Amino acid sequence: MESTTNNEITLTIDGRAVTVPAGTTILQAAREAGIEIPVICYHEATTSNGLCRTCVVEVEGARVLAASCVAQAAQNMVVHTRSERVLRSRRTILEMLSSAVDLSEAPEIQQMIEDYGADTQRFPAAQKREFALLDDNPMYVRDYSKCVLCWRCVQVCAEDAQYTYALSYNGRGFNTMISTFFNEPLPATTCVFCGQCVGVCPTNALKPRREWLLEQGKTPEEIIALTPKERRRRPQ
Ligand code: SF4
Repeated sequence: MESTTNNEITLTIDGRAVTVPAGTTILQAAREAGIEIPVICYHEATTSNGLCRTCVVEVEGARVLAASCVAQAAQNMVVHTRSERVLRSRRTILEMLSSAVDLSEAPEIQQMIEDYGADTQRFPAAQKREFALLDDNPMYVRDYSKCVLCWRCVQVCAEDAQYTYALSYNGRGFNTMISTFFNEPLPATTCVFCGQCVGVCPTNALKPRREWLLEQGKTPEEIIALTPKERRRRPQ
């Protein structure tokens, strides 16, 4: 197989030849070829970090599966996006996520669980990651029991969009969670309540406070009463 131009490469994905600019990720090359690869942490508006590993693919000759959102396509590469090894890996990731995280409000992940036949009870003795819901500002609530640590909110709050840097992480290993610096309440941070973190969250771990209050059975009048006056005023 020959390179089309110096700046283009041709590879084969699931038996389909596709030519893309050099530097294209396998995920994007697959999309060019009309092949969808499932993603959780990947989002068009945020920088990819290959965190969730849902998008893994098998590259012929490679020892380990590659996270297609960060792995670059290469000339003459042969990629399989639905080999038995890939499917088993995705299924296991979904089963491990189900064992530790509340995915009840993550419809895209629920669909993946169904599509891949993942057994949500595979690890019955696993410990759930449970955190108290944080209701510390008038705009949105944070329920990190539903967080899959995809990192989208942190990135959209930083260089990918807002340059606010209100969100980061706290803790280590199993207890790692998204947080603010020194775990301060959001109004005490640099947060400008733009809502972009809520917009990119795939699991409803971040949710508009009014939506959450409606779900609690509050009436619109009660919600207005529950919203601090100083935050209801329009800026002058
Ligand atoms: S809060 Fe949402 S966007 Fe942020 S890391 Fe968790 S799941 Fe991802």
